[in-house]
Amino acid sequence: MFLTKCSNKINFVPINAGKIMNFSFWEKQSLTSPADVTILGSGIVGISTAISVKSARPDLRVKVIDKACVSFGASTKNAGFACFGSVSELLDDIKAMGEEDCAKIVEMRWKGLQLLRSRIPDEVMEYQSCGGLEVFNSDTPAFAYSCFEHIDYCNKFIERTLGLKNCYSKIANTDFRYFHPEMIFNQYEGSLNPVRMIQALTELARKIGVEFVHGLDVSFIQSADKKLICRGDVEIPYKVLCVCTNGFTRQLFEEIEVVPARNQVLITRPIPDLKLNGCFHYDRGYFYFRNYEGRILLGGARNVDFQNEFTMEPGTTPVIQSALEHFLDKIYPGASSMIEHRWSGTLGVGFSKNPICRWQDEYILVGVRLGGMGVAIGSWLGEKLSGYILERI
Ligand SMILES: Cc1cc2nc3c(=O)[nH]c(=O)nc-3n(C[C@H](O)[C@H](O)[C@H](O)COP(=O)(O)OP(=O)(O)OC[C@H]3O[C@@H](n4cnc5c(N)ncnc54)[C@H](O)[C@@H]3O)c2cc1C
Repeated sequence: MFLTKCSNKINFVPINAGKIMNFSFWEKQSLTSPADVTILGSGIVGISTAISVKSARPDLRVKVIDKACVSFGASTKNAGFACFGSVSELLDDIKAMGEEDCAKIVEMRWKGLQLLRSRIPDEVMEYQSCGGLEVFNSDTPAFAYSCFEHIDYCNKFIERTLGLKNCYSKIANTDFRYFHPEMIFNQYEGSLNPVRMIQALTELARKIGVEFVHGLDVSFIQSADKKLICRGDVEIPYKVLCVCTNGFTRQLFEEIEVVPARNQVLITRPIPDLKLNGCFHYDRGYFYFRNYEGRILLGGARNVDFQNEFTMEPGTTPVIQSALEHFLDKIYPGASSMIEHRWSGTLGVGFSKNPICRWQDEYILVGVRLGGMGVAIGSWLGEKLSGYILERI
């Protein structure tokens, strides 16, 4: 399909609208009657927004649209870390944005996790309070020591911001010879199964009356007529639209400051007697690994090939995979010969770690750019988007 831009930045005119779908009258009627609130994207943000709107206003008709059968983005492809920040990330963020702004971001992550856990029972989404661990390269001890020196400072920051005491502590690393002999433990972080999380959120949303339409790939938004134009020549009218397409947002609004960033992950076969407890962060979070049912799940390494990973294309690459394999053998020698599966997902990043939550025009609200902590921020952002929508309706 070729698209031509109109003067209004978010309007496009189709030159070739593609093949017409063979809808029945009933299907057409259901699809083309506009909901009160239409949400584009059925990742954690879209579904959470739908739950927040529908819980506050059960009388409203809320519809969630997605191109994929479950989610094409990051919400079912992520590593399942329920985290809000390691010491090195916190120090980096405070340096970049100051204590006050960093506190706001940490607070939204923590509140988001609490809201998620209040909606979905821990056992349903396999939530485990396993704690987070930051490990350090033993070849660069100065970096590790500078983080150790700031543990007290970070504990005071977290206590002031979240009211949580003694968040970080230094503990001995007896299991990983490659890493520095001491690491930092965050007692309040956890892990979950992202597919179980999305399934449970979807079930909850359906139970309270949210409608889902999967398989509609929106090519452009015709804001003048308040219509979504989908591949297959399907037009969906909307009254209020909330766009939760994260890393894919620039396909619809090229001016929005969110850049797609691919993240690659691998997982091994079960390894007998694997000693690995908790969610591990390394190199300011660029590498992350955890134990899932006796397997090592390892992801990241985007910093090894930054430019090529700023893409919406799914897939794995030899450069990132070999960096991950190399690192995997440092966690557990020989584990690179036990890899069972590899995949990628697309997240949305930008210059700021703050998510975007703003009206694009009178009827289009955008909620995107969750970086690498969408599991934590997603529910919080959904609640915020819902507040914006309910004020306007
Ligand atoms: C590999 C990987 C590991 C990660 N690990 C973690 C982690 O451990 N912890 C953590 O907190 N975060 C992690 N993240 C980040 C987290 O998963 C994301 O921040 C979060 O899932 C974003 O949710 P979302 O709802 O905004 O977007 P998404 O989940 O990407 O949902 C967007 C939805 O929009 C749909 N869509 C897009 N464009 C269109 C269109 N034109 N028409 C119709 N539908 C469309 C997509 O199909 C998709 O379902 C990871 C991300 C990746 C990729």
